[in-house]
Amino acid sequence: MANVYVYNNQTGGMEFYTLAESDAMPYNIGRTLTVNEFRGSSRANTLWTTRRAMEAFNITRSAWGRPIYVGFAFKRIWEGGHAAMSQHYAGVSFDVGQNLDSTTRDQLRNTAAATGVWTYVEPAYLTPTWVHFDARETPPACAAGGYPLVRFGSVNNYVLTLQDALNALGYTGSGLDGIFGSGTRNAVIRFQRAQGLDADGIVGCQTWERLTELAVGIGRTATVIDP
Ligand SMILES: [Zn+2]
Repeated sequence: MANVYVYNNQTGGMEFYTLAESDAMPYNIGRTLTVNEFRGSSRANTLWTTRRAMEAFNITRSAWGRPIYVGFAFKRIWEGGHAAMSQHYAGVSFDVGQNLDSTTRDQLRNTAAATGVWTYVEPAYLTPTWVHFDARETPPACAAGGYPLVRFGSVNNYVLTLQDALNALGYTGSGLDGIFGSGTRNAVIRFQRAQGLDADGIVGCQTWERLTELAVGIGRTATVIDP
């Protein structure tokens, strides 16, 4: 079983599902991506994604016309395995096609790009042995890329990633619900003060960079929330 948060880009709300591993992910009607495929190597009980990412996967699978092998998709930030500010920790990124020969894999990469539903499809020279595509939200807080700025009142999958990193590092009190309320703001300010950052409670470039550098791959600490 898995607890699955889905940020609904159309309503601006956070949805919550309790699903079996063999269940289809929400919004994968007719074109199944199971919970187990989405979690890949993640061992977490609570996962998250967005409606937009799920619908983009549907459209890509439909355009491809057959199942797409998913090597990696979601990871919790403390599980690591990807770079700081990776979209995999935000639940909107897929690494697929590891089982294909390079010609077929190029075709899949081109098919994904041609759908126009992904924000980013990584070029073959960066990831020649798999296809990475993601439905990241823009603009990023840092010019070089990564996560968008989040602040009091934000509701989305990036707030889940933020809360997950804060919790893992011991800055508790913000829960794990994707809603940036006063508890999350207080935890952000405590983190910013401890790190000598501008303690404005807003998660922009510097705070995201420091937080993700410290949290990626730290492991399942005692303060991780993963019910
Ligand atoms: Zn990737």
